[in-house]
Amino acid sequence: MSRSYYIAGNWKMHKTRAEAAELAKALVSQLKDGKHRYLVAPSFTLIETVASIVKGSNIRLGAQNMASEEQGAHTGEVSVLQLKDLGVQTVILGHSERRHNYKEDDALINKKVKLALKHGLEVILCVGELLEEREAGKAEQVCETQVVKGLEGVPAAELAHIVIAYEPVWAIGTGKTATPEDADVIHAFVRKLIGKLYGADAAERITIQYGGSVKPDNAAQLMAKENIDGALVGGAALKTDTFVPIALFA
Ligand code: PEP
Repeated sequence: MSRSYYIAGNWKMHKTRAEAAELAKALVSQLKDGKHRYLVAPSFTLIETVASIVKGSNIRLGAQNMASEEQGAHTGEVSVLQLKDLGVQTVILGHSERRHNYKEDDALINKKVKLALKHGLEVILCVGELLEEREAGKAEQVCETQVVKGLEGVPAAELAHIVIAYEPVWAIGTGKTATPEDADVIHAFVRKLIGKLYGADAAERITIQYGGSVKPDNAAQLMAKENIDGALVGGAALKTDTFVPIALFA
């Protein structure tokens, strides 16, 4: 099995340009010998600043969202062309905050996924169940729907540019983490589903990150699980003190 670990920081709606520059510079320096793959996803207004700092480093540049249309009359939106122009390489789509607070549905997310791929961006597609869905025994069903609908019309040849992030909504920003065992059950389920949709090789190759209150003291146990290939980190990505130990976990 040759999947490499992929640790991504989602900075959400935090930081000014000066603060973002300071964090990005510290990460470039402290992760330069890191063995895993890395990404930071700052707010749109910070991307240009961060781009100039991470350029040429081992840290990829991500965005947290993008419009479902290429360009046009879409006040307040940011297009794939504008992201590419700034050097963005990866876009996070379907984050639970987009799904639940901004009512993005699977059809809209799927449109964004296909548009991002068409323009050569890597996609981190987030999926995950609400607490009431988990308690009703529907976690797998919810993730299946989000994966199947999110990837509808995505050909096998494009799957190398897709990363899936399993982020149980009840664990995001709450300090509650899924146990490594519970997380791995869903990761294994999603991998099997990718196998059904795209074949065994694709299932073996796809990177599935875990997200939901990943911290320096739980990262290694989560990453030790067979089907957990990295982390999508929110709160702990905002400081080197917490992100660097996660990124350099052994
Ligand atoms: C996230 O927003 O993707 C996330 C996992 O946040 P946190 O690490 O703060 O739970």
